[in-house]
Amino acid sequence: MNPGRRRFIEFGGRLIGAAALGGVGWRVFGGADPEAEFSQPKRPYVWRINTDKCTFCGKCETACVRNPSAVKAVNDQVKCSYCVACYGHLAELTISSDKINSEGKRVCPYDAVLRKEFGGGKDGYHLYTIDQEHCTGCGKCTKRCNELGTKSMFLVIRPELCIGCNRCAIAAVCPDHAIELVHCYPEDDYRGDFELDQELKRMEEADMGGMEDAQSGEKS
Ligand code: SF4
Ligand code: SF4
Ligand code: SF4
Repeated sequence: MNPGRRRFIEFGGRLIGAAALGGVGWRVFGGADPEAEFSQPKRPYVWRINTDKCTFCGKCETACVRNPSAVKAVNDQVKCSYCVACYGHLAELTISSDKINSEGKRVCPYDAVLRKEFGGGKDGYHLYTIDQEHCTGCGKCTKRCNELGTKSMFLVIRPELCIGCNRCAIAAVCPDHAIELVHCYPEDDYRGDFELDQELKRMEEADMGGMEDAQSGEKS
Protein backbone atom coordinates (compact mmCIF):
# COMPACT_ATOMS: atom_id res chain seq x y z
CA MET A 1 0.00 0.00 0.00
CA ASN A 2 1.13 3.52 -0.74
CA PRO A 3 2.75 4.85 2.54
CA GLY A 4 0.84 8.17 2.32
CA ARG A 5 -2.48 6.32 2.03
CA ARG A 6 -1.53 3.97 4.93
CA ARG A 7 -0.73 6.97 7.19
CA PHE A 8 -4.06 8.57 6.23
CA ILE A 9 -6.01 5.40 7.12
CA GLU A 10 -4.13 4.98 10.46
CA PHE A 11 -4.77 8.61 11.38
CA GLY A 12 -8.48 8.28 10.49
CA GLY A 13 -8.74 5.15 12.68
CA ARG A 14 -7.18 6.97 15.65
CA LEU A 15 -9.55 9.89 15.19
CA ILE A 16 -12.60 7.62 15.20
CA GLY A 17 -11.30 5.78 18.32
CA ALA A 18 -10.66 9.06 20.16
CA ALA A 19 -14.10 10.39 19.24
CA ALA A 20 -15.77 7.20 20.51
CA LEU A 21 -13.84 7.27 23.82
CA GLY A 22 -14.49 10.98 24.24
CA GLY A 23 -18.21 10.39 23.77
CA VAL A 24 -18.33 7.70 26.44
CA GLY A 25 -16.18 9.80 28.81
CA TRP A 26 -18.44 12.79 28.35
CA ARG A 27 -21.51 10.76 29.14
CA VAL A 28 -19.94 9.23 32.26
CA PHE A 29 -18.21 12.24 33.76
CA GLY A 30 -19.67 15.25 32.07
CA GLY A 31 -23.17 15.44 33.52
CA ALA A 32 -24.98 14.30 30.40
CA ASP A 33 -27.67 16.31 28.68
CA PRO A 34 -30.92 14.35 29.26
CA GLU A 35 -32.15 15.13 25.74
CA ALA A 36 -28.97 13.68 24.27
CA GLU A 37 -29.46 10.49 26.25
CA PHE A 38 -32.76 9.76 24.59
CA SER A 39 -30.98 9.94 21.23
CA GLN A 40 -28.52 7.18 22.16
CA PRO A 41 -28.58 4.19 19.83
CA LYS A 42 -31.08 1.61 20.98
CA ARG A 43 -29.33 -1.28 22.75
CA PRO A 44 -30.58 -4.83 22.56
CA TYR A 45 -30.12 -5.28 26.33
CA VAL A 46 -30.63 -3.48 29.65
CA TRP A 47 -29.28 -3.97 33.16
CA ARG A 48 -32.02 -4.47 35.72
CA ILE A 49 -32.46 -5.24 39.40
CA ASN A 50 -34.04 -8.55 40.28
CA THR A 51 -36.44 -7.41 43.01
CA ASP A 52 -36.70 -10.92 44.43
CA LYS A 53 -32.98 -10.88 45.22
CA CYS A 54 -32.25 -7.26 46.20
CA THR A 55 -31.89 -6.66 49.96
CA PHE A 56 -31.40 -2.88 49.66
CA CYS A 57 -27.82 -2.95 50.92
CA GLY A 58 -27.18 0.66 49.83
CA LYS A 59 -24.41 -0.05 47.29
CA CYS A 60 -26.57 1.01 44.35
CA GLU A 61 -26.29 4.62 45.49
CA THR A 62 -22.52 4.85 45.13
CA ALA A 63 -21.34 1.98 42.92
CA CYS A 64 -23.00 3.23 39.71
CA VAL A 65 -20.59 5.05 37.37
CA ARG A 66 -23.18 7.80 37.14
CA ASN A 67 -23.48 10.40 39.89
CA PRO A 68 -26.26 10.59 40.94
CA SER A 69 -26.88 6.92 40.42
CA ALA A 70 -29.07 5.58 37.60
CA VAL A 71 -30.86 3.60 40.33
CA LYS A 72 -34.02 5.14 41.79
CA ALA A 73 -36.75 4.03 44.17
CA VAL A 74 -40.32 3.65 42.93
CA ASN A 75 -43.60 2.94 44.69
CA ASP A 76 -46.01 0.46 43.14
CA GLN A 77 -49.40 2.14 43.71
CA VAL A 78 -51.28 -1.15 43.26
CA LYS A 79 -49.47 -2.73 46.21
CA CYS A 80 -49.31 0.38 48.43
CA SER A 81 -51.88 0.64 51.25
CA TYR A 82 -51.99 4.47 51.19
CA CYS A 83 -51.38 4.46 54.96
CA VAL A 84 -51.63 7.65 57.01
CA ALA A 85 -48.10 6.96 58.21
CA CYS A 86 -45.81 5.13 55.79
CA TYR A 87 -42.83 3.02 56.85
CA GLY A 88 -40.84 4.28 53.88
CA HIS A 89 -41.69 7.88 54.68
CA LEU A 90 -41.60 8.25 58.48
CA ALA A 91 -38.93 6.98 60.85
CA GLU A 92 -41.30 7.26 63.85
CA LEU A 93 -44.82 6.01 63.18
CA THR A 94 -46.44 6.87 66.53
CA ILE A 95 -46.74 10.55 65.68
CA SER A 96 -50.31 11.92 65.40
CA SER A 97 -51.59 12.34 61.84
CA ASP A 98 -51.92 16.13 62.03
CA LYS A 99 -48.21 16.41 62.97
CA ILE A 100 -46.78 14.20 60.23
CA ASN A 101 -46.15 16.92 57.69
CA SER A 102 -44.67 19.37 60.19
CA GLU A 103 -42.81 17.23 62.72
CA GLY A 104 -42.40 13.66 61.50
CA LYS A 105 -38.77 12.51 61.14
CA ARG A 106 -38.24 11.32 57.55
CA VAL A 107 -36.60 8.04 56.51
CA CYS A 108 -35.21 9.58 53.32
CA PRO A 109 -32.16 11.79 53.90
CA TYR A 110 -33.27 13.95 50.94
CA ASP A 111 -36.99 14.04 51.73
CA ALA A 112 -37.61 12.47 48.33
CA VAL A 113 -40.57 10.35 49.46
CA LEU A 114 -43.51 12.63 48.73
CA ARG A 115 -46.80 12.41 50.65
CA LYS A 116 -50.06 13.77 49.37
CA GLU A 117 -53.60 13.57 50.78
CA PHE A 118 -55.62 11.31 48.49
CA GLY A 119 -59.07 11.18 50.19
CA GLY A 120 -60.79 11.03 53.58
CA GLY A 121 -58.95 13.95 55.21
CA LYS A 122 -55.88 13.77 57.46
CA ASP A 123 -56.77 10.30 58.74
CA GLY A 124 -57.77 8.99 55.31
CA TYR A 125 -55.70 7.74 52.38
CA HIS A 126 -52.37 9.16 51.28
CA LEU A 127 -50.44 8.86 48.07
CA TYR A 128 -46.69 8.21 48.33
CA THR A 129 -44.49 8.84 45.32
CA ILE A 130 -40.73 9.20 44.88
CA ASP A 131 -39.21 12.45 43.69
CA GLN A 132 -36.97 10.97 40.99
CA GLU A 133 -34.83 14.07 40.72
CA HIS A 134 -33.76 13.95 44.37
CA CYS A 135 -33.69 10.20 44.96
CA THR A 136 -30.13 8.84 45.02
CA GLY A 137 -31.08 5.16 45.13
CA CYS A 138 -29.83 4.67 48.71
CA GLY A 139 -32.57 2.10 49.38
CA LYS A 140 -33.47 3.27 52.91
CA CYS A 141 -37.19 3.74 52.16
CA THR A 142 -37.43 0.53 50.14
CA LYS A 143 -35.73 -1.48 52.91
CA ARG A 144 -38.22 -0.24 55.52
CA CYS A 145 -41.21 -0.80 53.25
CA ASN A 146 -40.06 -4.34 52.43
CA GLU A 147 -39.22 -5.31 56.01
CA LEU A 148 -42.21 -3.71 57.72
CA GLY A 149 -44.78 -2.65 55.12
CA THR A 150 -46.53 -3.94 52.01
CA LYS A 151 -43.31 -4.25 49.89
CA SER A 152 -44.65 -1.71 47.40
CA MET A 153 -41.39 0.27 47.25
CA PHE A 154 -38.43 -1.12 45.35
CA LEU A 155 -35.35 -0.04 43.40
CA VAL A 156 -35.03 0.09 39.63
CA ILE A 157 -32.26 0.95 37.18
CA ARG A 158 -33.86 3.68 35.09
CA PRO A 159 -33.11 2.73 31.45
CA GLU A 160 -33.00 6.32 30.26
CA LEU A 161 -30.38 7.19 32.91
CA CYS A 162 -28.28 4.04 32.61
CA ILE A 163 -25.55 4.33 29.99
CA GLY A 164 -25.45 0.54 29.59
CA CYS A 165 -21.88 -0.21 30.69
CA ASN A 166 -20.58 -3.45 29.21
CA ARG A 167 -20.08 -4.63 32.78
CA CYS A 168 -22.38 -2.86 35.25
CA ALA A 169 -20.26 -1.49 38.12
CA ILE A 170 -23.06 -2.27 40.58
CA ALA A 171 -23.24 -5.90 39.42
CA ALA A 172 -19.57 -6.25 40.36
CA VAL A 173 -20.26 -5.37 44.02
CA CYS A 174 -23.87 -6.40 44.60
CA PRO A 175 -23.78 -8.89 47.51
CA ASP A 176 -27.02 -10.53 46.37
CA HIS A 177 -26.17 -10.90 42.67
CA ALA A 178 -29.37 -9.00 42.00
CA ILE A 179 -28.18 -7.08 38.92
CA GLU A 180 -29.01 -8.92 35.73
CA LEU A 181 -28.51 -8.31 32.04
CA VAL A 182 -31.70 -8.87 30.08
CA HIS A 183 -32.48 -8.58 26.40
CA CYS A 184 -35.14 -5.96 25.69
CA TYR A 185 -36.46 -7.71 22.66
CA PRO A 186 -35.88 -10.94 20.76
CA GLU A 187 -32.62 -11.38 18.85
CA ASP A 188 -34.53 -10.81 15.63
CA ASP A 189 -35.78 -7.40 16.64
CA TYR A 190 -37.59 -6.80 13.35
CA ARG A 191 -35.18 -3.97 12.60
CA GLY A 192 -34.53 -5.74 9.29
CA ASP A 193 -38.25 -5.59 8.52
CA PHE A 194 -38.34 -1.92 9.44
CA GLU A 195 -35.45 -1.13 7.13
CA LEU A 196 -37.12 -3.09 4.35
CA ASP A 197 -40.34 -1.08 4.84
CA GLN A 198 -38.35 2.15 4.64
CA GLU A 199 -36.65 1.01 1.44
CA LEU A 200 -40.00 0.03 -0.14
CA LYS A 201 -41.42 3.43 0.84
CA ARG A 202 -38.45 5.19 -0.77
CA MET A 203 -38.89 3.12 -3.95
CA GLU A 204 -42.62 3.90 -4.03
CA GLU A 205 -41.94 7.62 -3.64
CA ALA A 206 -39.32 7.48 -6.39
CA ASP A 207 -41.86 5.69 -8.68
CA MET A 208 -44.52 8.31 -7.93
CA GLY A 209 -42.04 11.08 -8.72
CA GLY A 210 -41.16 9.35 -12.02
CA MET A 211 -44.84 8.99 -12.99
CA GLU A 212 -45.54 12.65 -12.25
CA ASP A 213 -42.54 13.67 -14.37
CA ALA A 214 -43.78 11.49 -17.26
CA GLN A 215 -47.33 12.93 -17.00
CA SER A 216 -46.10 16.52 -17.05
CA GLY A 217 -43.91 15.59 -20.07
CA GLU A 218 -46.96 14.24 -21.96
CA LYS A 219 -48.93 17.43 -21.33
CA SER A 220 -46.22 19.76 -22.64
S1 SF4 B 1 -26.26 -3.58 45.29
FE1 SF4 B 1 -27.67 -5.29 44.97
S2 SF4 B 1 -28.60 -5.73 46.99
FE2 SF4 B 1 -27.60 -3.72 47.11
S3 SF4 B 1 -29.26 -2.26 46.71
FE3 SF4 B 1 -28.23 -2.66 44.73
S4 SF4 B 1 -29.33 -4.38 43.78
FE4 SF4 B 1 -29.94 -4.26 45.95
S1 SF4 C 1 -34.67 6.94 50.96
FE1 SF4 C 1 -33.06 6.66 49.40
S2 SF4 C 1 -34.05 5.32 47.86
FE2 SF4 C 1 -35.71 6.19 49.13
S3 SF4 C 1 -36.38 8.04 48.04
FE3 SF4 C 1 -34.80 8.67 49.53
S4 SF4 C 1 -32.88 8.65 48.35
FE4 SF4 C 1 -34.39 7.43 47.19
S1 SF4 D 1 -24.76 -0.21 33.72
FE1 SF4 D 1 -23.45 1.50 34.35
S2 SF4 D 1 -24.81 3.30 34.37
FE2 SF4 D 1 -26.12 1.48 34.33
S3 SF4 D 1 -26.63 1.08 36.48
FE3 SF4 D 1 -24.80 -0.14 35.98
S4 SF4 D 1 -23.04 1.14 36.53
FE4 SF4 D 1 -24.85 2.47 36.46
